[in-house]
Amino acid sequence: MKTIGMLGGMSWESTEHYYRLINEIVKERLGGFHSAKIAMVSVDFHEIEILMREGEWDAAGRLLAGCARRVESAGAEFLVICTNTMHKVVTTIEDHINIPILHIADPTAEKVKRSRIKTVGLLGTTFTMEEDFYKGRLIRKHGLNVIVPPEPDRRIVHRVVFEELCMGVVRDESKTEYLRIIDNMVQEGAEGVIEGCTEIAMLVGPRDTDIPLFDTTAVHAEAAVDKALA
Ligand code: GLU
Repeated sequence: MKTIGMLGGMSWESTEHYYRLINEIVKERLGGFHSAKIAMVSVDFHEIEILMREGEWDAAGRLLAGCARRVESAGAEFLVICTNTMHKVVTTIEDHINIPILHIADPTAEKVKRSRIKTVGLLGTTFTMEEDFYKGRLIRKHGLNVIVPPEPDRRIVHRVVFEELCMGVVRDESKTEYLRIIDNMVQEGAEGVIEGCTEIAMLVGPRDTDIPLFDTTAVHAEAAVDKALA
């Protein structure tokens, strides 16, 4: 079994789910007392959040690259960045380490395609929904059509991530809003929705809607185990 490197803490609320899922899947596959080999660095999200908010992406990239090097020195054989948004600085991180990165968008897109879905809705932070680093990868590398909510709804989705979910707060009113936004994307042609933020599954899951949901935390965790056990 390979040692999985985790760059976590963005937020710790979702990293906790990654840690649990990765171990549960290893246990399910190997049985007995088996658990995952993991080397993790978990950041203080306060520092990262300020850099993001102020648009200091180079500084954020350097900070995370330093953390990734520590994960590598601790014995990790590949790296899982436990957030969609910080894949914006994936090339900076890549430049500073010698182990491969398992990009969160790739196993997600593969799973969408295996479900025979061509047009997918995307929820996430405004960075993830609006910028090219994530959407562009889904479109150009994986040939998907991507729909995002209109501007006022993108702001709602983003606000709920930072002001509620990253703080461990799950509110029924926010779930209702998310379900409305998901329904609107379905009206626009989405056949499924990528929960492109690692906290969103805390709020909306398959129990809440019939539309296929792709929880990036679960997909990324499973892909990490596949790679570790390959
Ligand atoms: N965990 C989130 C994501 O998957 C948002 C927090 C962050 O910006 O890292 O995008």
